[in-house]
Amino acid sequence: MKYLCYLLTVENIRCAQGGCVMENQHINSNRNELELLKIWSDHKGMYDIFSSIEFEEAFTYEGDDLGAIYNKDATKFRVWAPTASKIDLRLYRTGHDNSLFEVIPMSRDVKGTWVVTVEKDLNKIYYTYLVTVDGITSEAVDPYVRTTGVNGERGMVIDLLETNPCGFIEEKRPESCSPLDTVIYELHIRDFSTDPSSGIKNVGNFLAFTETGTKNSFGQGTGIDHLTELGITHLHLLPSFDYASVDESRPEDNAFNWGYDPLNYNVPEGSYSTDPFHGEVRVKEFKQMILSLHEHGIRVVMDVVYNHTFSVDSNLNKIVPDYYYRKVGDAYSNGSGCGNETASERAMVRKFIVDSVVYWAKEYHVDGFRFDLMGVHDIETMKAVKKALHEVDPSILIYGEGWTGGDSSLSYEKRAIKAHTYKMEGVASFNDDLRDAIKGSVFDSYEKGFVSGKTGLEGNIKFGVVAATNHTGIDFSKTSSGRYWAGSPCQCINYVSCHDNLTLWDKLTISNPNESFENRVKMNKLACAIVFTSQGIPFIQAGEEFLRSKPSGVNEGGFEENSYKSPDSTNRLQWDNLKQYEDVFTYYKGLIAFRKEHAGLRLKTTEEINSQLSFIEGLENNVVAFHIEHKLDDTNMEHIFVVYNANKESKRIMLPDGAWGVYVNGETAGIDRMQEVTSDIMVEPISAMVLLKEATHF
Ligand code: CA
Repeated sequence: MKYLCYLLTVENIRCAQGGCVMENQHINSNRNELELLKIWSDHKGMYDIFSSIEFEEAFTYEGDDLGAIYNKDATKFRVWAPTASKIDLRLYRTGHDNSLFEVIPMSRDVKGTWVVTVEKDLNKIYYTYLVTVDGITSEAVDPYVRTTGVNGERGMVIDLLETNPCGFIEEKRPESCSPLDTVIYELHIRDFSTDPSSGIKNVGNFLAFTETGTKNSFGQGTGIDHLTELGITHLHLLPSFDYASVDESRPEDNAFNWGYDPLNYNVPEGSYSTDPFHGEVRVKEFKQMILSLHEHGIRVVMDVVYNHTFSVDSNLNKIVPDYYYRKVGDAYSNGSGCGNETASERAMVRKFIVDSVVYWAKEYHVDGFRFDLMGVHDIETMKAVKKALHEVDPSILIYGEGWTGGDSSLSYEKRAIKAHTYKMEGVASFNDDLRDAIKGSVFDSYEKGFVSGKTGLEGNIKFGVVAATNHTGIDFSKTSSGRYWAGSPCQCINYVSCHDNLTLWDKLTISNPNESFENRVKMNKLACAIVFTSQGIPFIQAGEEFLRSKPSGVNEGGFEENSYKSPDSTNRLQWDNLKQYEDVFTYYKGLIAFRKEHAGLRLKTTEEINSQLSFIEGLENNVVAFHIEHKLDDTNMEHIFVVYNANKESKRIMLPDGAWGVYVNGETAGIDRMQEVTSDIMVEPISAMVLLKEATHF
């Protein structure tokens, strides 16, 4: 038993948390942990002991051996449960039915952990912990569990080495020079392959990402071939860890959920595997998916959801009741909008989050993490995440939603929200200022945006162009944030649509009911041209490049704006639409190719953007234009001139001196020069134009 060597007073705890106090009651030093817990327990309800410095000092476990550490000869189990009075390890033959064969008591060890070593080969043996806390006994799955049986009901001991596909250990992440060279494509696993026109055999599974040569009904490439043709660098997968809401035992139901209801954080989701009953299968198939994507030059970003759990009847809460959550009085704080929020500021919650992302990065070679409701987390946790991940590999991408989903009890100044992005070097936030300026607010389906004719939005468009950094050409009083929030362009994710809310195409349809199809396509093209010619990191929703729609299964002719549990028929990518909207796909592809060719669109620092990008002043309403003069090397300059004309009339724009080549207009985008112009240019209605004065023209 470890003894504590400091003077603990009840007053100290009270000061930490502002609860009521028993005056002058001092507790002697050298209390052992059990005595401390007894005293704390006696004052339960009076103090938030879990947030006290004393608790953290007594019970912060820093080891890297939590969970079930497998060796052929023995498996060592360690679980952090400082308030538990008894824990038994229960061993099962299977992950779901009545197959208990052994119960082994665990022993209290250092820093509130409990341990037991079982000297047998436990590979593929299922297990749980039977935990007694405050006289209540519950069966819980190990929070550090590496895989589970069906529906995540029991953990499974696993020999991870056995799960590596051929070549996995040696494989390297695809090359990526800088976060700014990134093009992110956001996708749900099922959406990729559930439409018959995908031509993919492994419908709805991780293995869909291992198939090549797949075609739609018109012979056009789908699946992974489509992703490589489009030119993305990062595939962002909606939650792919084990979540609660889909019954893994009934694949015939074809149930759909986005997966923002976490169950087991360090385990792949079973419904995306070919056999959710055997824990090793999901691990193997997740790795096969990563390996295949890496072999095609595509990095993988995981959408992670540490801000809340599926319910408060969670494994975390069974093992250490109330430790992992923020509470206000007796009620769970609800900053997630899902009924609870985790307390990332507490040492063992922060450690859990950091350990989890590092595990995915090391064991599965995951290349990036998108934090759901990052604003629920505290800034220090996001800094710890960044530090730990960049020790694994400094090119790992970290970004998140810089907002909360409800009223969080975490104080505003501690929140990892968008306004504080500049305080979190190496972490980026989604730019909702640009998103809503381009197409109209996501909270009002009918509101128009810059591309669809709403006026007065030039300020926010320019703010997106400079990746929400501090630029001398921005009048911050004309932006929705009122000030810059990115400390550098790699802290800004520019986008116009994602899985939330209406798709871009549905939004344009609903908010512009009287516009022609042709004009709405022009709006869509202008929207993506803004995203891909802005500084920062561009991001698109899967299928945006062929006018993705989410038809409502309920209202004829309607669209789903919150399709989190809508059927595949609403959510799936309809690959045959590639034929009808091939022109739009080609436009996206051309913009990505142009962006990759020209470093001036990927400036690395706020200083570079300030000195090399200048806005053209004195233009008409609903027109934004800028000139980038980027030094490529000691002898060559790259001049890029970009115009967005959101008006329904053509606009004549004066060009800087010299001969200019047109590479992007309202119809076409790419790396080939379409036309050469001097002095001025006519920019068509609702269109972008990108021109280049190449070095050869000096
Ligand atoms: Ca699951």
